[in-house]
Amino acid sequence: MEKKQFKAESKRLLELMINSIYTHREIFLRELISNSSDAIDKIYYKALTDDSLTFNKDDYYIKIASDKENRLLKIYDTGIGMTKEELENNLGVIASSGSLKFKEENEIKDGHDIIGQFGVGFYSAFLVADTVTVISKAFGSDKAYKWESKGVDGYTIEECEKNYVGTEIILKIKENTEDENFDKYLEEYMLRSIIKKYSDFIRYPIKMDVTTKKLKEGSKEEYEDYIEEETINSMVPIWKKNKQELTKEDYENFYAEKHYGFDKPIKHIHLSVDGMIRYNAILFIPEKTPFDFYTKEYEKGLELYSSGVMIMEKCSDLLPDYFGFVKGIVDSEDLSLNISREILQHDRQLKLIAKNIKNKIKNELKNILKNEREKYEEFYKSFGRQLKYGVYSDFGSNKEVLQDLLMFYSSKEKKMVTLDEYVSRMPEDQKYIYYAAGESIERIEKLPQTELVLDKGYEILYFTDDIDEFAIRMLMNYKGKEFKSVSSGDIGIDIDENENSSSVDEQENKELFEYMKETLSDKVKVVRASKRLKNHPVCLSNEGDITIEMEKILNSMPN
Ligand code: ADP
Ligand code: MG
Repeated sequence: MEKKQFKAESKRLLELMINSIYTHREIFLRELISNSSDAIDKIYYKALTDDSLTFNKDDYYIKIASDKENRLLKIYDTGIGMTKEELENNLGVIASSGSLKFKEENEIKDGHDIIGQFGVGFYSAFLVADTVTVISKAFGSDKAYKWESKGVDGYTIEECEKNYVGTEIILKIKENTEDENFDKYLEEYMLRSIIKKYSDFIRYPIKMDVTTKKLKEGSKEEYEDYIEEETINSMVPIWKKNKQELTKEDYENFYAEKHYGFDKPIKHIHLSVDGMIRYNAILFIPEKTPFDFYTKEYEKGLELYSSGVMIMEKCSDLLPDYFGFVKGIVDSEDLSLNISREILQHDRQLKLIAKNIKNKIKNELKNILKNEREKYEEFYKSFGRQLKYGVYSDFGSNKEVLQDLLMFYSSKEKKMVTLDEYVSRMPEDQKYIYYAAGESIERIEKLPQTELVLDKGYEILYFTDDIDEFAIRMLMNYKGKEFKSVSSGDIGIDIDENENSSSVDEQENKELFEYMKETLSDKVKVVRASKRLKNHPVCLSNEGDITIEMEKILNSMPN
């Protein structure tokens, strides 16, 4: 039997591959910069293991230069370069990764920063370029080579001149089409913003010649273009810096730079976790509610980085809904990425990080509550509602996380109190945690139903938010104490018959009650004499599980 090789239309295959892997054209720059960074890492690694080589950090950089006139975009680096064989093997063979091989050969496992692994990133250059030229001189070689491809029928390689070790990639940017603008990839502002977005924390400087207008020498109004080389990326991410060296302002600046909000965060949490999964993170608890926070439009999520490269702008899986207000970034080397590096392959690591983060946020909020009460109350004004939604929407584990973070207005303290504070003050004979629901504190204070409970000296929590009573129903109890609405039929307080002068004889007034019931028809189920009233002639109470306030809310909801 004869064995035959598959044949493939390589141009079609390349196009298919590139276009199905990547959803955003602009990532070509991220990929090429990542390769350059890897190449510098490799020479750095060589220097670590080879005594004849010294690594002078200033000599290593990546540079981006655009030549609009000729539609050329150049990316060059002073990395390790490629030999003729490496050009053939790494760029001539799709899905062959020299970086993966390098890691394997050098047994680099932990703590490395080399990004490449799939051997396809390079070809993303064809998302924006017709022709890609690579000029490279490898470390330890005195010859340089030029690799060139139009992505159609393979590539050419020839010897060429190049002074120093490193690689230069030249993209001939595509002409604009009817529905796609390619010119923008030659614009300074665009390049800057793509670099900032994806490659801000590449560890080596990414330089670019930046044009600014400056006053002409000796002139007061005449300007001239002035070109200056600038490093675009921040290099060391703030989350990898030492906490002790950072000030509150540093964190606040980062918060503002990242456009997390116009407010100042009330707290930042800086984490360097080195356990089952390793990650660094900076999380912020904002002060003010974003204008769209309680709408469907609001998107929760944290920025996700892998080895300093941005993978996802809003990774929603990292935050539970009830902590959806938290902003910030997570960086981990331990994530398994899929080939486009846009989506994560396994979410096990992500789940671990998410769980960890959830606990850290919970603990931090508890700390604020304990040590900075006023701050916590401010926070609670903005996001307390979200915490209560959290309790309401899931009966399972949310309760444990959230119950100690809840606050309600207290009849006794005339301010917000926690459930723990309430329970710890309860007299021994008090069976329930009492609450009264209503539109406002003033209204609740006037409710006849509160009278007896208050007279008993018991504290009442005032529920003024729609969600309050529903959330509490899900909670059911706190530290073994059940919640009880003051308007429920049986409020669990023994009433002393003799003491209560306003008690009315049910039998004597039978006719009156019947008349009242008839007149009110469907509006009430039964009219009865009450022993709990003192200064008020009448009050409403509920018999079943749904209180009057809940009923009002349910009735006002759209079906
Ligand atoms: P990956 O980075 O996942 O390995 P790429 O397609 O991005 O895949 O790159 C393929 C290989 O080409 C790299 O692994 C590396 O060996 C080589 N390479 C690409 N760009 C450079 C560069 N600027 N300098 C040195 N080698 C490079
Ligand atoms: Mg790569």
